[in-house]
Amino acid sequence: MAKLLIFGGTFDPVHNGHLQTARAALTALNAQRIVFVPANISPHKLERHNSALPQHRLAMLRLAIADDPGMEVSAVELLRPAPSYTIDTLAILRRDRPGDTLILLVGADQLPALHTWKEIDAILASTPIAILPRSGFNVPDLPPGNITADLWKKVIGGILQIPEYSISATAIRRAVAHGQVLSEQLPQAVIAYIHKHGLYQQ
Ligand code: ATP
Repeated sequence: MAKLLIFGGTFDPVHNGHLQTARAALTALNAQRIVFVPANISPHKLERHNSALPQHRLAMLRLAIADDPGMEVSAVELLRPAPSYTIDTLAILRRDRPGDTLILLVGADQLPALHTWKEIDAILASTPIAILPRSGFNVPDLPPGNITADLWKKVIGGILQIPEYSISATAIRRAVAHGQVLSEQLPQAVIAYIHKHGLYQQ
């Protein structure tokens, strides 16, 4: 029975903040594998955020983890129309991997809005959540929204005691649009892919 970390996000693009914290979380949680799940984005949002198409985000993720046997990418959310809901994604992943223990990885910046996730009570009741550190964000003492104190305790161990990387995809997209090279923030293969396909140039 494997312990599997599920890491969802837009990954637009995947960066070293995602990759380094994912590796550290694997060790900290004594887990065997991590599954990156890129989210679908509705077409009207794509332009607003200077986003890359789903196939590009997927391709960059695959390149970024190619040499890491503990990491994989699932296109499960890209096969469904946006928006995808975590509760549905977890049901599919659980069906496909019976016997595995799933743990959700969530950046601390996502916590204040956690109560808005579809069926968050059911998610917390069935799936532990491990929190990745992000500068300026703590686990709120009181659960947000209608989440009960008991369910909030399922947010295991508070924020993982792993190094913090202040890298953000929004800042990367902006920097690329200004012609900057970001070799410390992105894997080489992802940089090459961005240039080859002219991504984030707006
Ligand atoms: P954006 O800047 O566009 O919001 P992002 O860098 O936050 O993007 P996402 O793809 O939206 O990246 O994030 C996916 C998940 O990874 C979220 O749970 C987010 O909190 C987490 N995450 C993103 N960047 C980091 C980082 N530097 N360290 C730890 N977790 C991160």
